[in-house]
Amino acid sequence: MEEFRLEKAIVELKGVRKQYDDGFVALKNINFKLKQGEFYTLLGPSGCGKTTILRSIAGFTEVSSGEVLFDGKRINDIPANKRQLNTVFQDYALFPNMNVYENVAFGLVVSNVPKDEIQDRVVSALKLVQLEQYADREISELSGGQQQRIAIARAIVKQPKVLLLDEPLSALDAKLRKDMQYELRDLQQRLGITFLFVTHDQEEALAMSDEIFVMNKGEILQQGSPVDIYDEPINHFVADFIGESNIIPGTMIEDYRVEFLGHTFECSDAGMRPNEPVEVVIRPEDLVITSPENGKLQVKVSTQLFRGDYYEILAYDKDDNEWLIHSTNATEDDKIVGLSFGPHDMHVMRFNETEANFDKRLDTYEDER
Ligand code: ATP
Repeated sequence: MEEFRLEKAIVELKGVRKQYDDGFVALKNINFKLKQGEFYTLLGPSGCGKTTILRSIAGFTEVSSGEVLFDGKRINDIPANKRQLNTVFQDYALFPNMNVYENVAFGLVVSNVPKDEIQDRVVSALKLVQLEQYADREISELSGGQQQRIAIARAIVKQPKVLLLDEPLSALDAKLRKDMQYELRDLQQRLGITFLFVTHDQEEALAMSDEIFVMNKGEILQQGSPVDIYDEPINHFVADFIGESNIIPGTMIEDYRVEFLGHTFECSDAGMRPNEPVEVVIRPEDLVITSPENGKLQVKVSTQLFRGDYYEILAYDKDDNEWLIHSTNATEDDKIVGLSFGPHDMHVMRFNETEANFDKRLDTYEDER
């Protein structure tokens, strides 16, 4: 029974499409299932539809077609305040005229929860976000990070099965943001509820999630664990969006043999047509600088930047392709060096013309709006 509960989808979207009143289609055909107790992230550039998905699940936006299911039941017509989930917004949306305790208690007060129970639940929610000693503080007397935690306490005090978080860390400085990433992940694991987190920051998504949905232009392009998405991006957009990468056009000669820049290399990919056009992804940290004779390719160093724990080196090959290399050692500007990499350092992606054209079609569509 326990296993069954774990596998059951708590939220499901089936063929969800959203067209706004001005005709713009913000979501095309969204299908996904969220399981109980997992940390999910919607990741994509600004305007790709992340917030629209969140608002459709929360009940703030009506979908044009398709189904939104919660715990197996269709909730398209259930008003937002009757859905068993809560949202943490980007700007926290705290009530400035109420103190911390009152802010967290508010949702319980309006739901007529008995006073004693409110007291217990607010205290334990504040404990969870480590702010129990701040109950009497005014909101204006809190730092950004503390306000953020109060917003989370206010959302979890109602014991939702799902917490929706819309870029909740974007107003925080870099250091605090990192600390909050650990805290949020830890909180989600202690509560054991489902988090659906929205961000356009790929590092944040990789660090926190059990599963990531990479979105672009109203569609989910790839769903998978952070490691899968990083190591096996499905196409150029995902490879480029998730971390820095070198993406080189090539040809898949046959299984485990790919050709690019005039050389044939052994690789670990298979399953494409012989001589199929492909793109090869090599991450900057997987390239090793060596002597020109020992390298599989030769490049000329252009510039290097010291990044603290590594040097970021920009170089060009004979065809003028740009190469990004992360190295623990410095090199010299204008020097010709060799690049070494193994079969597992390359990831071969189908060069899908439909996808390339798809982007063009969408751009035309948007221009015509
Ligand atoms: P961001 O990261 O900038 O918040 P997002 O991925 O969350 O972006 P959405 O807010 O979901 O994107 O918006 C998706 C698209 O829908 C955008 O192009 C936006 O301009 C458009 N859109 C959002 N709300 C409306 C609306 N009420 N009417 C018309 N278009 C809208």
